[in-house]
Amino acid sequence: MNLEEMIAEIEALGKTCNCGNNHNHISIETMFIGTDAFAKCSSFLLEKKFKRVLLLADQNTYVAAGEKLGNTLRELNFEYSVCIIESNKIGDIVADEVAIVQALLEIDNSIDALLAVGSGTIHDITRFCSAKSGKPFISIPTAASVDGFTSLGAPLIVRGVKKTFQTVSPIALFADIEVLMNAPKEMTAAGFGDMLAKYTSLADWNFGRLIADEPFCPLAASLTKEALENCVEKVDEIALGEEEGIRILLASLIQSGLAMLLFGQSHPASGGEHHLSHYWEMEFLQKNRHQVLHGAKVGVSSVLLANLYRDWFSSGELLPKALNNRSEKIAEIISSIPTTEQVAGLLKKVGGPSTPEELGINNELVERSLKEAHLLRNRFTMLKCYNIKLSQ
Ligand SMILES: [Zn+2]
Ligand SMILES: [Zn+2]
Repeated sequence: MNLEEMIAEIEALGKTCNCGNNHNHISIETMFIGTDAFAKCSSFLLEKKFKRVLLLADQNTYVAAGEKLGNTLRELNFEYSVCIIESNKIGDIVADEVAIVQALLEIDNSIDALLAVGSGTIHDITRFCSAKSGKPFISIPTAASVDGFTSLGAPLIVRGVKKTFQTVSPIALFADIEVLMNAPKEMTAAGFGDMLAKYTSLADWNFGRLIADEPFCPLAASLTKEALENCVEKVDEIALGEEEGIRILLASLIQSGLAMLLFGQSHPASGGEHHLSHYWEMEFLQKNRHQVLHGAKVGVSSVLLANLYRDWFSSGELLPKALNNRSEKIAEIISSIPTTEQVAGLLKKVGGPSTPEELGINNELVERSLKEAHLLRNRFTMLKCYNIKLSQ
């Protein structure tokens, strides 16, 4: 199935889903992964009658894709300017107030649209600027590294604190397959980690729905599950960096992103494992440490939770009494999570980290985050339930 068919099918299914939640209209006009993505992007810009665009990239993604895209635009005499987002004082590219102001200063009346040429961070900066300036943005992923390309949420760091703002999704996405295949291996491994995180996020969502009436949409859940399964099936091709594997990985990440977009909240793709990752990220920020890729963190935190959730459930006495009559259903949810060894094995196969030590996270931080990360979000996860029981 090509990506345009994917959007049409999800839109149609959304209309028939009677889960009771509002389903967002997916306003992405077109998406493409392939060899002539930049030519397709240029034709799209001409079709839209845009006169001038702003390319937002960082030093690396400009070299990886921005130059090539710029050349394609120049051949068509299309006007564009470039904003290379600078790194912060420790050399990281972060979506903070400094980067945002740098980008906003480049946007004036002559700009018709913004092009996010990069990975998740460049997309977060562009998405926010797009919402604030009212100029549409187009996604040009340079690595299959996260599921957030098409989402509404922009996690930003303001005065050292991370906060997610609801902004806008892109109007189109064009991914050059060669650029994706040439991306650093750890970026691809991170994208795979963000997909594996769906084992625990989906389990947490099913649990939250059962225990705390968290809003639930079976369509968004099954789209996310299907994306996860497609990806795991192609783990060997992804590990080898083969075209088919990379294509399936990005398509799965996009499908997971669309499920969130449809549902309007991040439940399908973000559970306790994402809360642990936010906790670690905040700790790194406070200590001025270099950030670790989002997908690398959530891959590792999924391994930790696969272990914790199984142990918690099998130890029985830790389960709140109120849950006893639902233990069969909870057992079913727990059995949907592979074992720690299986999740870690999949991560290792693609060359991704599978232990906190590999991320530079020590035992003290792991233990503290397992006790406190659930406080970062209001969402009812097994991690939250586990902690409530511990404190009783
Ligand atoms: Zn994620
Ligand atoms: Zn629904």
